[in-house]
Amino acid sequence: MTFRFSPSSLSDRWLVFVFVLTAALMLAGCSVDEFLADEDTPVGAEQDAGDDYYYTETPEDCLEDEEFDEVDELCYPIVYCDEEGVCEEEEYGFLDLFFDLVDELVWGVAGGNFEDSGEAGENTLVTYRVDGNQIVEPELAAVTDDLLDFQADTETHQKIWVYFAQLIPPDQRPFLVKYVIFTDGPEEVLAFVTPDTDDPTKWLLGVDIADSSNPEELTFTLVHEFAHLMTLNSAQVPVNEELALEPDNEELYEAAAAACPVYFPGEGCSEPTSYINAFYQRFWADIYDEWSENNLLEDEDEYAAAAEEFYSSREEDFVSDYAATSPEEDIAESFATFVLKPKPSRDTLADQKVAFFYDYPELVKLRAEMSGRLYSRLRRQ
Ligand SMILES: [Zn+2]
Repeated sequence: MTFRFSPSSLSDRWLVFVFVLTAALMLAGCSVDEFLADEDTPVGAEQDAGDDYYYTETPEDCLEDEEFDEVDELCYPIVYCDEEGVCEEEEYGFLDLFFDLVDELVWGVAGGNFEDSGEAGENTLVTYRVDGNQIVEPELAAVTDDLLDFQADTETHQKIWVYFAQLIPPDQRPFLVKYVIFTDGPEEVLAFVTPDTDDPTKWLLGVDIADSSNPEELTFTLVHEFAHLMTLNSAQVPVNEELALEPDNEELYEAAAAACPVYFPGEGCSEPTSYINAFYQRFWADIYDEWSENNLLEDEDEYAAAAEEFYSSREEDFVSDYAATSPEEDIAESFATFVLKPKPSRDTLADQKVAFFYDYPELVKLRAEMSGRLYSRLRRQ
């Protein structure tokens, strides 16, 4: 039995984008350096000496419709939402502009092909410790000569991190403790998250430096990876400590899954009120058996055909084909769509999955904050 794409495997945390259809939509000639260049040097920007690296702004840098976030020292439009998740319309007026910018950036992301991914960690280049908005104490892995340039490209490591840190509010990621730069070459895995082996209640984020130069992919992927952190952290899914020590022990896995009365994503038994359990009960409970059977297929071709059939027989149910690879990927893809696209106006199952998040006032508020943060990064390009 394999755990391919099963919730316990690392590979399903990996996001693979093959952008055959979207290649034409990419912003021609926009490299990561150009894309992030303005973040590099906002007016009044400061860079701390030593390990510290986080570009800050001052109130003077803020544009007319922006406010100054004193904690993160960042300018963006702040939207006020009440406890029911109703946000102030007027302040939210930037949303149309935001979607115009994002459309240029990430439109077409949904609909890429999915592929199996390589082994985790085989090409780790540098591991940083995350300290709030900073990445510190880089640990260099032993690498082959051809990877030395990537490993030494601290500036790019930091730019990607800053983009992530400015997009995702720090209070939303206290469990993210490591940031890994790796590469498996271009166009395979772009990014992943996985529990930290030292402490499975903590997580690490890995980004492939060779794939980071496409801003559209990078943006969608970082939101997608954050969605994994948001839905699988130990407050949502308490860690099964035994299984964390022996992640490949299938017997242990089966026993833990069987003992869980609600959805079992692999890290442990989900809280009944968790996002992933609610999402699973509503959207996956009656297709899970079919999906699980496909995952037992050991032959690669048979599996690929079954996975293709699983998706193509219900395309309207998923925001992308990658979403059909597991409940975890489905909720991550749907959340990224929730953040980066307008509220759905139709009522397909895929739309309902996006609308799912509007039932949570704290997520409506988070969406408002993330869109404000991203809007202000994008408009400075
Ligand atoms: Zn994923």
